[in-house]
Amino acid sequence: MNKTKPTFDVKKNPNPVTGEQRELLLANPGWGRVFTDHMVTMRYSEDRGWQDWRIEPRKALDLDPATSVLHYALEIFEGMKAYRLPDGGATLFRPHANARRFRNSAERLAMADLPEDLFVESVRALVCIDREWIPSAQGAALYLRPFMIGTEVALGTKPSCDYIFCVIASPVASYFKGDGPAVTLWVSENFTRAAPGGTGAAKCGGNYAASLAAQAEGLREGCEQVVFLDAVERRWVEELGGMNVFFVFEDGSLQTPPLGGTILPGITRESLITLGRHMGLTVREERYSIDQWQEDARSGRLTEAFACGTAAVVTPIGKVKGRTHGFTVGDGKAGPVTQRLKAALTDIQFGRADDKHGWLDRL
Ligand code: PMP
Repeated sequence: MNKTKPTFDVKKNPNPVTGEQRELLLANPGWGRVFTDHMVTMRYSEDRGWQDWRIEPRKALDLDPATSVLHYALEIFEGMKAYRLPDGGATLFRPHANARRFRNSAERLAMADLPEDLFVESVRALVCIDREWIPSAQGAALYLRPFMIGTEVALGTKPSCDYIFCVIASPVASYFKGDGPAVTLWVSENFTRAAPGGTGAAKCGGNYAASLAAQAEGLREGCEQVVFLDAVERRWVEELGGMNVFFVFEDGSLQTPPLGGTILPGITRESLITLGRHMGLTVREERYSIDQWQEDARSGRLTEAFACGTAAVVTPIGKVKGRTHGFTVGDGKAGPVTQRLKAALTDIQFGRADDKHGWLDRL
C-alpha cells in the first residue's frame, strides 16, 4: 500500500468557467447542480495499490456495463465543505474525520483501504485548483464529494479487485430553502433505514437508495425530511435520511441518539456534542422514543429539536407528522439553544471565532 504524499499529474481545464459566468453561478448555485472545473481521480488495483493520481478537467467516467458498482452498489462517499474565511483564505473543517469515516465505510463494504493522508491531500488539491469556486455569500460553501466505486469488470458477488477514487466539488447555498425556517418531519413507520449488523454506520450509496421510498412518502405528505425509527422495536428515534437529530429539554439539557452501528456517526453531531459541553450544557447520548418525543413536545418538557449535518448545518425541526403521530416542537420555530449552537459551529467554520478545538485545516 502506497502511503506517500500523492504527486498529481495535473491537467488544467483549457475551458474553465470564469468571470461573470462563474459569478452568476456562484450568486445562486442552488444545491448540488453546479460543478467546478476539475476533479481528482486515483485508481486502485490489487497488485499495484493506489496509483495514477490525477487532477483533470471534470468529465464523464467511462464504465464497462459489467462494472461491479453498477450491479452490486459498491460505492461509498463523503460529504464535506470548504469555507471562505474573512481574510479571503479558505479552510476545510475536520477533514481527517471524514477520511477516517471513509476508511470505516470501505471496511464495512470490503472495499480498498484508502490511507487518510491520500484522502485529505486529494480533497485539498481539488479545493486549491478550484478555490475561485468557493462562494462568499452568507452561509454558502464549496461542497466536496469524495467517493469510491468498485470498477472490476465481472459479474458475481464478491469484493472488487479494482477501484476508482474520485473527488468532485459543487458550490452550494443552504440546503433548505430560505436558511432558517423549521422543517417538518415524516415519521417512517413502513420503512426502516438500517438494522443491527447492517450498513447504517457506513456512508454507502445503497443506504440512500433504500431511504428514498420513505422520502417520497414524506414529500407526498408535505414533509421535507423523514425521521427513521429503529428496525427492531420500531420506536427509538434514530436519525433523518441525511442528518442526525438532537433534542433540547426545558432544563436546557441536550440529547441525541447514541451511535450503535445503525446511524451515521455525523461529524457535525460530534462537533455539537463538544460545543454543547463547552457551553456548560449537559449532553446525553441516549435513546429517545417517538412516543416520548410526542408526549414531551405536548407537555412542554421538550422545548426544541434540530437536525444537523454538513449539508443541513443546524436546522430546526418545527413539526413531526406520521400515521399515528402529529405534534409541534416548541413554537415551531428555531429556539434559542438551536440558534446558539448553530452560531457557535458556523462561527468556527467561517473563521469568525477562535478555532479552540483545532478543527480548521486552512488551505
Ligand atoms: N446521517 C446521515 C444518514 C447522513 O447522510 C449525514 C450526512 N453525511 C449525517 C447523518 C450527518 O453527517 P455529517 O455531520 O458528518 O455531515
